[in-house]
Amino acid sequence: MDTANLTLTVEAGCILQNLQDAADKAGFLFPLSLAAEGSCTIGGNLATNAGGTQVVRYGNARDLCLGLEVVTAQGEVWNGLSGLRKDNTGYDLRDLFIGSEGTLGIITAATLKLYPQPAAQLTAWAAVPSMQHAVTLLGLAHQHLGAGLTGFEVMGQFALSLVAKNFKQLRVPLYEDAAFCVLLENSDTESESHAREQFERLLETALEQGCVTDAVVAENIAQAHQLWHIRESIPLAQAEEGLNIKHDISIAVSRIPEFVEATDAILLQALPGVRLVNFGHLGDGNLHYNVQAPADGDAAAFLRDHEEEVNVLVYDSVASFGGSISAEHGVGSLKLDKLEQHKSPVALGMMRAIKQALDPQNLMNPGRVLRV
Ligand code: ZN
Repeated sequence: MDTANLTLTVEAGCILQNLQDAADKAGFLFPLSLAAEGSCTIGGNLATNAGGTQVVRYGNARDLCLGLEVVTAQGEVWNGLSGLRKDNTGYDLRDLFIGSEGTLGIITAATLKLYPQPAAQLTAWAAVPSMQHAVTLLGLAHQHLGAGLTGFEVMGQFALSLVAKNFKQLRVPLYEDAAFCVLLENSDTESESHAREQFERLLETALEQGCVTDAVVAENIAQAHQLWHIRESIPLAQAEEGLNIKHDISIAVSRIPEFVEATDAILLQALPGVRLVNFGHLGDGNLHYNVQAPADGDAAAFLRDHEEEVNVLVYDSVASFGGSISAEHGVGSLKLDKLEQHKSPVALGMMRAIKQALDPQNLMNPGRVLRV
């Protein structure tokens, strides 16, 4: 740890939570945060450019990394662990390896950014009448909280109803009369009372403008954890409910309401009865726009017969709104064909040229990201 440089250098096998704890113990924050943090490793986080819940403020794994050590396909070691925040000496090799999913080389160590810990962190839960209102609330939250806005998650009514149904002990607030609920986090550098005042002013303004119909601010850390736990339980609740088709997409925040309205309508027209489990990181434009089979019927048969049709409808809609078919989960082997269809030929050509230059024998994680 270099506290004056605000950096931490770790080996790739370090578990994310151990890294967060080490930073915390020294009085700093390492802000990458996601549901798998207790088991995922920082090497994997960087190779996949992981996102999570704090991206609205701190960016994704790429934004939190200052340098890498990499073993190349030729067996050489590149030591790029300089910890420099400025280094304009040619191509950015670090950013080439981050998000490459192991297809260009093997990340063995990384130098990461540390941040000061906030003095206080508060969580609020707000009911909003529509996705457009959620986007309006996001704009207000940016205005009122500035850099204090460290989390902004949106959750559709059906997604929350699955949590309420399958995990009754979690007591989901305010979802019954709201099309969407929003989870907001305010990380304040001054004090808890300052954070609370800011939150109250924001929510008052939002209530006056009608973009929020009701809201609660967590009274203590236990309540805040409970609210976050509801959000994190959506994927599990969805699995309890049965098979579904998952999408990890991003669209410019401004276009998300129109995208959701259009895509919901397209799916419901093509496949009446499908249920849309829509939730995600609205603060950074990333939705987990999942499609659950109709309630009564054979879900396995539905997936067998309609999964590809659903994917085509969703990804074509994403493309028509200028979005991405993979926001934070990567390409892997599952989306190889989709990438070929949706990435521009010029971009694919440059990606292939890079792969060919760095790994001409296709030794590094073959069969992932790019067809070569
Ligand atoms: Zn996510």
